[in-house]
Amino acid sequence: MLKRKVDIAIIGTGTAGMGAYREARKHTDSIALIEAGHYGTTCARVGCMPSKLLIAAADAAHTAKHAELFGIQVPSVQADGSAVLERVRKERDRFVGFVVDDVEAFDSRHKVRGYARFLDAHRILVDNGLEITADRIVIATGSRPFLPKALEGAGSRLVINDDIFEFETLPASILVVGAGVIGLELGQALSRLGVNVTMLARKDSVGGIVDAEIRAMAATAFKSEFDLRLHSEIVSTKEVESGVEVTYRNGDGEIHTISTDYVLAATGRIPNTDRLGLEHASLVADSRGAPTFDRKTMQTSQPHIFIAGDANNELPLLHEASDEGRIAGRNAGIYPAVEAGHRRAGLGVVFSDPQIASIGKRAHELSSQTYVTGKVSFHNQGRSRVMAKNQGMLKVYADSKTGIFLGAEMFGPAAEHIGHLLAWAVQQALTVENILAMPFYHPVIEEGVRTAFRDAADQLKLANAKGSRDATAAIV
Ligand SMILES: Cc1cc2nc3c(=O)[nH]c(=O)nc-3n(C[C@H](O)[C@H](O)[C@H](O)COP(=O)(O)OP(=O)(O)OC[C@H]3O[C@@H](n4cnc5c(N)ncnc54)[C@H](O)[C@@H]3O)c2cc1C
Repeated sequence: MLKRKVDIAIIGTGTAGMGAYREARKHTDSIALIEAGHYGTTCARVGCMPSKLLIAAADAAHTAKHAELFGIQVPSVQADGSAVLERVRKERDRFVGFVVDDVEAFDSRHKVRGYARFLDAHRILVDNGLEITADRIVIATGSRPFLPKALEGAGSRLVINDDIFEFETLPASILVVGAGVIGLELGQALSRLGVNVTMLARKDSVGGIVDAEIRAMAATAFKSEFDLRLHSEIVSTKEVESGVEVTYRNGDGEIHTISTDYVLAATGRIPNTDRLGLEHASLVADSRGAPTFDRKTMQTSQPHIFIAGDANNELPLLHEASDEGRIAGRNAGIYPAVEAGHRRAGLGVVFSDPQIASIGKRAHELSSQTYVTGKVSFHNQGRSRVMAKNQGMLKVYADSKTGIFLGAEMFGPAAEHIGHLLAWAVQQALTVENILAMPFYHPVIEEGVRTAFRDAADQLKLANAKGSRDATAAIV
């Protein structure tokens, strides 16, 4: 058996692992950067980038199909499935190429190929036969799709996000299981490209929206576009000659069967920590078996072991994986000293149409705090109506005592951009008053944002008036 001793071992060469490597490299030349799969990252290869490429094609088809609304006649719109997927792959491969180039540029002495498992808190066995003893370790192993048992019967007709981008052409029909971020993005895009999409969701959750009013609005909008069935639980799946038969139970307890070409599992993702042999490293785990960690330092219960990216099961987003990787890599580099890394205001975007954005703290995280809510419907919002994008709602939350803007949730036009403005305002701890004192052009969607903050300002006035009335009553 080959043995090697290093200062720092990094398990996984995705976004978090690469960030960790770049930081660790500033402190030592003694590194093992281990990768079991392909270089190129989940984001570029099968995640963020190919999904957005598919959505871009779907948006083009949708815009063409709905041009008539503006008096523009487009006689017929046909998605050429193989051409659509060819462009997705071509552009995707370009993005992957850039990432692979970056990894190629890393020092070849540091790169190890193979699957790593812990032998103890300092020793790692790679399945190429190499045993690595590391003073510090960064776990950056990412996540994979969770596949419920009930889907196993779909056999070769069961697909995950990775497979969609490898289809030669678009299928005639697909059943998407799950209406979370991935299910919604891919399901809506496929539907807009002419695939007959049925989407089943176990509860009434759509795109991870927390606010019940916004969630109901989103569900209505998506239902008007494709066959979205909420409160529907898969009972069984069976691969048949023509495709797959899916049996599910709806909210009334009725059993229904659907025949479809493929089943897309969009049933959440699980961190790749279950096969790492964490028990040998004596890491404290939470109730779901994921190692506990400090989100400022990325340190686990073993101070020399750090965990970053999707592996820690906290915020499965690209920019968070990148930040966490850098924090973990730096702290592994300067260990035994550790520093609190910079964490940003929360921002999540779902690239559905309308888009969904969550910013800072959402209502369920504020329940113990006194706050006011300001809201706007985009139905009659000027610029949104001009563009026929007048669907959705924005709710903004502000501390009722200080007026500081705490967070927001949005389903509506240009949420990817509005979400950024709002996240920047949260991070700057701006008050409702500060925000309303800034410029708003006309006519723009941001005027809708102003309406929501004006509403919040009114709520703050009411809350403060009530506060002083209560105080006076207490004195009297
Ligand atoms: C369809 C889809 C769409 C997405 N869209 C977005 C989006 O629009 N915006 C956004 O912010 N995020 C998006 N994400 C999430 C984003 O892709 C992830 O949060 C991010 O890629 C996680 O990076 P990571 O470094 O943690 O994991 P990864 O990039 O997956 O890297 C982990 C690496 O570890 C390797 N590995 C695992 N176990 C071992 C082991 N034992 N030994 C050695 N190597 C190992 C793996 O092979 C892999 O290369 C999307 C994800 C998906 C699936």
